[in-house]
Amino acid sequence: MNYQIPFLDLSVKDPIIKKELLESVSNVLTHGRLVLGPEVEMFEKLISEYCGVKYTVGVNSGTDALYLALRSLDIGPGDEVITTPLSWIATVNSIVLCGAKPVFVDITNDLTINNNLIKEVISSKTKAILPVHFTGRLCDMDQLSEIANQNGLYLIEDAAPAFGASYRGAKAGSFGHVSAFSMNPMKVFNGYGEAGAVVTNDTNIYERLMSLRYAGTINKEDCQEPSLNGRIDTVQAAMMLVGFKYLQNKIVKRREIASYYNNTLGDSVICPKEHDGYFNVYYTYTIIADRRDDLQEHLISKGIETKIQHPILMPYHAAYKNSNKINIPVAENLVNRILCIPSHENLTKQDIRHVANTIRGFYGKQKI
Ligand SMILES: *Cc1c(COP(=O)(O)O)cnc(C)c1O
Repeated sequence: MNYQIPFLDLSVKDPIIKKELLESVSNVLTHGRLVLGPEVEMFEKLISEYCGVKYTVGVNSGTDALYLALRSLDIGPGDEVITTPLSWIATVNSIVLCGAKPVFVDITNDLTINNNLIKEVISSKTKAILPVHFTGRLCDMDQLSEIANQNGLYLIEDAAPAFGASYRGAKAGSFGHVSAFSMNPMKVFNGYGEAGAVVTNDTNIYERLMSLRYAGTINKEDCQEPSLNGRIDTVQAAMMLVGFKYLQNKIVKRREIASYYNNTLGDSVICPKEHDGYFNVYYTYTIIADRRDDLQEHLISKGIETKIQHPILMPYHAAYKNSNKINIPVAENLVNRILCIPSHENLTKQDIRHVANTIRGFYGKQKI
């Protein structure tokens, strides 16, 4: 179906940006270092500076970033990792592929892990807490850091969708012992294909990550432990160096759209809240709506594409159905009410007005 207002628009509209992107690719083709080339180092340095961390390791995808982050902390068989049930499945896949066991803790209305329930599930096997900055909104990192420190646990941020988000000026990725980003094309800071990054302040973790990214080798030859090929293409890094210049504008635009929706939809649905000191990047603008499925149908009929991220809670995927009994009533309720509405930076004022009025109309509210 051809939507009048698509959920996302990944085409590059601005001719100047398009030209810069093509030039960056051309430079890579000229020097010919196609994987882990000089632009990768520049990209890693840029991310470290921006996020306020010592080290960045560019990788193939956010999934790789998560998996290698866990591996770099020696998380494996016999270990438990506490996480949220509501995320892209890569979060739990990475835990399980390391051989560890995920332990799910319910969420709050913010759609992120409920910190108050974490202590109850900490056991002698717990090795790490893996919160997800779902929708591009930071979890309560002060409290999470405190829980992790008090219990001698690692804190790993799944910051995949939250590059650029911050809490009191500290950026996503800078709170964890190690943190993972995705730069897949859907993310706010995106590659033009698959890409990701792992960040840390710890020299040992960094060195381990460098080896794990390269089949577990040192000196690119001697394998110390089995691992994958997590290397990043130079072309992706080169194009993201261009994209980075325009990132702040995109975030500003998304925040303006969010603020418009907050002002126009608050009497119809539950809008995402930005708590004091937090700066969200609105990877998605996710509302909590009554009669969600009917609303989604109604929006489709008016040419508006929406998405449910994600319709199946992680523990309920076929791959994980036989896991232990879990108690996640809030997530079970919210998963039937969440809806991501278009909020990308290419939308016009008329577009977002149309979205807002269509939602208002569905709930019998006056047009604005
Ligand atoms: C996008 C995303 C991932 C995975 O990133 P990929 O680059 O697609 O592998 C993991 N976790 C969350 C929360 C994400 O949003």
